[in-house]
Amino acid sequence: DTLLSVRDLKARVEEKTILKGLNLEIKPGEVHAIMGPNGAGKSTLGYVLSGREGYEVESGKAVLDGKDLIELDIEERARAGLFLAFQYPVEIPGVSNLEFLKAAVDAHRAANDQEPVSSKDFLKQAREVCKQVNLPAEFLKRGVNEGFSGGEKKRNEIMQMLLLQPKLCILDESDSGLDIDALKVVADGVNSMRDGQRAFIVVTHYQRLLDYIKPDYVHVLSDGAIVKSGDASLALELEAQGYAWLEERKAQDP
Ligand code: ADP
Ligand code: MG
Ligand code: MG
Repeated sequence: DTLLSVRDLKARVEEKTILKGLNLEIKPGEVHAIMGPNGAGKSTLGYVLSGREGYEVESGKAVLDGKDLIELDIEERARAGLFLAFQYPVEIPGVSNLEFLKAAVDAHRAANDQEPVSSKDFLKQAREVCKQVNLPAEFLKRGVNEGFSGGEKKRNEIMQMLLLQPKLCILDESDSGLDIDALKVVADGVNSMRDGQRAFIVVTHYQRLLDYIKPDYVHVLSDGAIVKSGDASLALELEAQGYAWLEERKAQDP
């Protein structure tokens, strides 16, 4: 059983090919960490899988739970169970977080032929999740991402993830601005959702996050392809060695 199957994926942004034949197989319940040097294409992978505008697939396959992702638009991919966190969504003044979250949950429910959740039940659920991510309940009344600090944005994304309960969550720790409290919120959120079915792709520059989220596999992404895979110990090795060996490898085998 495979949850996500990515085969020889090639994709470009603005005429530049960034993913150059990427392969990745994820089974239900697994956590895969993706590491690698800056500019390798880690964030691009998340954007390509989620269907972000401007990211064009040249060839290859990406199948989630039997659904060909490349055929689907961004909303359809979300409804198919894909969630991309930390993409710095835009502020939506005038729409409260609660309204925004409920709309997202109801859209998912509709895609599965379910009625919208009752406002009362949703408020209760949303308050519980707020507590879980250490945000005050008042947070739900604020405009979407309006004046959120970096840590609040991360907490908000984890809150969305907890409410949407996606099948595949991609977390991209694209900046280093995650303080230890926010990091623990992210890790606790992920760990509380690990259930043997749901899978995670955790993109991270530093091994730090992996002290809290134990990955089943660690992959090194370099120049648009996965060049090395291993277990959690590979992250420690990378932390100690850096990525200079990638350049040596390229020099030997261009
Ligand atoms: P990583 O997340 O591994 O640091 P990215 O996926 O952000 O790498 O970027 C991979 C490469 O794609 C980089 O060379 C970057 O400059 C380029 N790139 C990313 N986004 C764009 C874009 N919107 N337009 C042009 N080039 C881009
Ligand atoms: Mg980068
Ligand atoms: Mg990145």
